[in-house]
Formats: sequence, structure tokens, C-alpha cells
Amino acid sequence: MTTFDLPDMDDDTETRPGKIPVPDHVQEAIRTLIRWAGDDPEREGLRDTPLRVARAWKEYCQGYGEDPSFHLGRQFEEVGGYHELVLLKDIPFQSHCEHHMAPIIGKASIAYLPRDKVVGISKLARVLHGYARRLQIQERLTSEVAQCIWDSLKPHGVAVVIEAQHGCMTGRGVRTPGVGMVTSRLMGEFLKDNRSRKEVLSLMGY
Ligand SMILES: [Zn+2]
Repeated sequence: MTTFDLPDMDDDTETRPGKIPVPDHVQEAIRTLIRWAGDDPEREGLRDTPLRVARAWKEYCQGYGEDPSFHLGRQFEEVGGYHELVLLKDIPFQSHCEHHMAPIIGKASIAYLPRDKVVGISKLARVLHGYARRLQIQERLTSEVAQCIWDSLKPHGVAVVIEAQHGCMTGRGVRTPGVGMVTSRLMGEFLKDNRSRKEVLSLMGY
């Protein structure tokens, strides 16, 4: 069954990674990789794999098609006198390492100390996913998320802590499953003020 190849008549199919057309040379590249790994790309179970892999990669890397700061465009000035920190804790995410294109699976905690504007809390997760859905290293992902919030909201402080497992460590190389890597980026009050830093890190569970 190769019904995947049939053009779909729905309006928005062209923009959905699950249905986009995949050029031949892209599929051929994936066949080459399958051969390189030691299998036969023409055997039945693998026949549609290049198409699926190509579409999956468009989805893993959806972040290239967006500017994550867009999600912070809608800000609310009415904070009802609330000037304490806002924290979104343990947001699950998936990314891929730029060195092996292997999965990075983890969770992020994102906090900021509002100056006079706040955003809808789910928007912080959207910023994370916007940067995570690219080829990444964990250190850069952490600082890109923090910098985006810092620039867009101009808050008193930003704290981002990411804890993740790297497929390139657990599935190859040193093969050490269960080892998590922790990275953090603290800005403003969270960096300067000891008490604020301790408070945010302990609320995050560190
Ligand atoms: Zn890697």
C-alpha cells in the first residue's frame, strides 16, 4: 500500500509534515543510509520507510519554520499586583543532537520574574518546542530559550533548567542509559541575587 503518495485534497495538507510530498533525492538519501547500515531498502518492510523518515524529520525539525519569540507577542499588562516569579515546571520535550541526529529526551523548567508584563503560561512551552524542534546541543537550547524570554518580556529575571538524556550516549558510544545531563541559564535577579536563585532552583526541585 502506497496511498501516502496520493495527493490529498484537504486544504492544509501541504503544510502538515505528515502529508507533505517528499522529493526523490531525499528518499534516495535515506535508502543510501539504510544500505550503509547493512539492510536492503527494497525489502518489503522498508519500502515506504524513506518516505516516512523524511516526513518524520520535517516534523522533528519543525522549529526551523518558526520564530519562537512570536509566541511571546501577546502580553498582558494587568498582573493584579503580582510580582513574584512565574514558573512552568517539568515540561517534557524532545530534540535531536546536532552531532549524531540522535534523540534528546528530557524536561525543562522555565521561570521568570515579571517586570510589568506576563504571557499565557503555555507560551513558555511553545518557546521551548520552537527551539527544541531543531538540531541542537543542550547548552544552546537552554540559553536560546532564556534569551528569547529575556528579550521579549524584559523581565527582572529568567531561569531555565533543562535535564535530558542523549540518545548518542545511551544507545551508542559509551552506552550509559539513565545518565541525565543538566544545564541551566540564569539571568537578571536570578543570577545576581543569591536568595532569588535559591528560591527558583528549589521550586524547580534542584
Ligand atoms: Zn550526539
